[in-house]
Amino acid sequence: MNIIDIINKKRLKGELTKDEINFFIDNLMNNNIMDYQVSSLLMAILLNGMSMEETINLTDAMIKSGEVIDLSFVKNPTIDKHSTGGVGDKVTLVLAPLLASLGFSVAKMSGRGLGHTGGTIDKLEAISGYQVEISKDDFINQVNNIGIAVISQTGNLAPADKKLYALRDVTGTVESIPLIAASIMSKKIASGSEFIILDVKVGNGALMKNLDDAKRLALTMKKIGEVYGKKVVCVLSNMEEPLGHAVGNSIEVNEAIDTLKGNGPKDLTDLVINMAAISLMNLENISYLDAFKAAYNNLKNGKAYQKLLDLVEAQHGDINKIDVSEKYFDIKSTYAGYIKSIDALKIGEFARRLGAGRLTKEDSIDPTVGVIVNKKVGDHVKMGDTLMRIYFNQVKAKFNPLELYSFFEIASEKVEKPKLILGIIK
Ligand code: URA
Repeated sequence: MNIIDIINKKRLKGELTKDEINFFIDNLMNNNIMDYQVSSLLMAILLNGMSMEETINLTDAMIKSGEVIDLSFVKNPTIDKHSTGGVGDKVTLVLAPLLASLGFSVAKMSGRGLGHTGGTIDKLEAISGYQVEISKDDFINQVNNIGIAVISQTGNLAPADKKLYALRDVTGTVESIPLIAASIMSKKIASGSEFIILDVKVGNGALMKNLDDAKRLALTMKKIGEVYGKKVVCVLSNMEEPLGHAVGNSIEVNEAIDTLKGNGPKDLTDLVINMAAISLMNLENISYLDAFKAAYNNLKNGKAYQKLLDLVEAQHGDINKIDVSEKYFDIKSTYAGYIKSIDALKIGEFARRLGAGRLTKEDSIDPTVGVIVNKKVGDHVKMGDTLMRIYFNQVKAKFNPLELYSFFEIASEKVEKPKLILGIIK
């Protein structure tokens, strides 16, 4: 067996055997195949796809490239959450404490930002002192003591994904359903939780640009979960406009705190409550309405916020120290009308240029910068209203007003508010 034959087989739309996939991942891990060969195979997979069996075998090989966390010592039912990535996506910061307040054990390993989307770990590091790396024993003890720990992924959890993702990121091979499904599910299964809730984002700011592809990805991930005896639920949610208002690290944490205090933006609050309710229905045999009420109540009565405080304290952060740049300027509307569209992708890329995200893996993040998008699609806007506030430090990007105005489309006629939850696959 050799890698050139495997690349050629996939190039000619062949179906790879389990042995061939294992050979690929083993030799990837042993550094026996060159990056350009790996990239070539990834591109052949992106172009020609993979069958369900190939995707399951790829996930399996990626899981076995590292350790699988044993969460059997954790008291309560364990839950993990993952998002395919979006702009302003701070769902984990709100949902994880909310789930912990509802009786789940949230043992969450999160990643850093990818492309134009921010990562939970970068956001948590905006809280002064928050330690994202703790030992495995401390991680499990913390989950048992307070019901929640959110740490950065250990290097040994599906390490094949780390290697593959680094190459996919720079070779135009991210947007492949089998590759995304294997990437996400290998990490989720290796993380050890029984229950997995996935937020599959759909729209121009997301990896999945349309609902059909998002459904195919969700069904693929669910099927992989079944093979490993995991309960997987996927929520398909809109990513045509940023989620909430804040896009940037410190400002997203602040928005998550507001939401946990019951004062968050409607779309973020609705998504989090729905995801918590769906999770709770699977834990306790209760109706959706009762689960929804329980989740809603814990946002309103401070129990979910208290879990965030517990989490931050346990991981040595100071919730009162989340620095936001003092330098900002506002972009004001020169039209009156209704917001027809807000380009999530352009805003994500702009926030990245401000320093809120990385262009290369080596870049450091500036947690204090970002964009507050004041308006949502369907909102009425008057001339002179602030469309967005830009927090900046060192200006890496040149501000071009024409570019900034191009993020918004304003119509004279009324615009319907878009649907936030586009489907649930359970
Ligand atoms: N998130 C992941 O973890 N992996 C992907 O491939 C895409 C999004």
